Amino acid sequence: MTTDSSVRVSVLGLGAMGGALAGALVESGYATTVWNRSPGKADDLVARGAEAAATAGDAVRSGRLVIACLLDHDSVHEVLDPLRDELAGRTLINVTTTSPAQAREFAAWAARAGVAYLDGGIMAVPSMIGRPGSSILYSGSAEVFHEYEPLLGVWATSTYFGEDPGLASLYDMALLAGMYVMFAGFMHGAAMVAPAGVTAGEFAARATPWLTAMTGALEGLAAVVDGGDYTVDGQQSLEFSSLDDLLTASSDQGISTEAVAMVQRLIQRQIDAGHGGEGFARIIESIKQPG
Ligand code: NDP
Repeated sequence: MTTDSSVRVSVLGLGAMGGALAGALVESGYATTVWNRSPGKADDLVARGAEAAATAGDAVRSGRLVIACLLDHDSVHEVLDPLRDELAGRTLINVTTTSPAQAREFAAWAARAGVAYLDGGIMAVPSMIGRPGSSILYSGSAEVFHEYEPLLGVWATSTYFGEDPGLASLYDMALLAGMYVMFAGFMHGAAMVAPAGVTAGEFAARATPWLTAMTGALEGLAAVVDGGDYTVDGQQSLEFSSLDDLLTASSDQGISTEAVAMVQRLIQRQIDAGHGGEGFARIIESIKQPG
């Protein structure tokens, strides 16, 4: 396990996130080489103690651990494909956001090139890096994860999901799905009250404690799903959960009903299949089996 700061780390990509990751390493005393495609982004890091590499190849050659935080999967290939030979025998931790399939594809590329590979999914915004609440999910080489766990701890709470390199990305995408649908629900509510002269800020002050309280229901819903019995007493039934009133109220406000209609369709498909008396958690069956 690498517990000291003697390892030299090379960070490729100094955008908002890559810059934050490199900055946290520098502040923690890691010898850090940085590289960015366009000039200028390394200046602040160099002033704080990082070394700037003129090319991605120079950065890769300068250390045995390489961190890639580029825009997307294609940009990682664009930068690293020509450096395949230089990377051989080194370790690559790729925290660029990719799909699970892309993470697996890149892990296979790394295996062919003789590169030890760990894939990461960042559950934080740049300002959270190095602070409580920041979380990064990893999958791929267990050896790499355990060797560099102290270094990864500089950025965030680290969680390792297993050798399948696509797992971190799968969790990342699943958590983001929950976030985006919740944000869309918030925006729907804000649009509903706007014609009544309520600002989005005023609505947020109401929505925050409400949605926070509602997250308390997730474990109960999960227990029903995992138990596989949607008839268990105490659940809100699908018929009771009809969103017709909500759709009507939205139309009356002159706004789009799309966000709420999506949920109503998931409910209705289960009612149509004869499960109206069963619990709301059953909408997961509509999601698992595309209509
Ligand atoms: P930015 O847009 O700020 O930076 C993108 C970086 O990728 C820049 O360094 C850019 O270089 C580089 N880049 C893009 N295309 C290429 C290319 N073809 N060749 C070489 N370099 C390239 O993005 P972020 O730093 O915010 O995000 C980086 C990764 O982190 C993404 O995958 C993102 O999804 C992920 N992430 C970001 C979060 C955030 O809140 N920002 C949150 C969670 C994950 P150049 O400066 O030359 O354009």
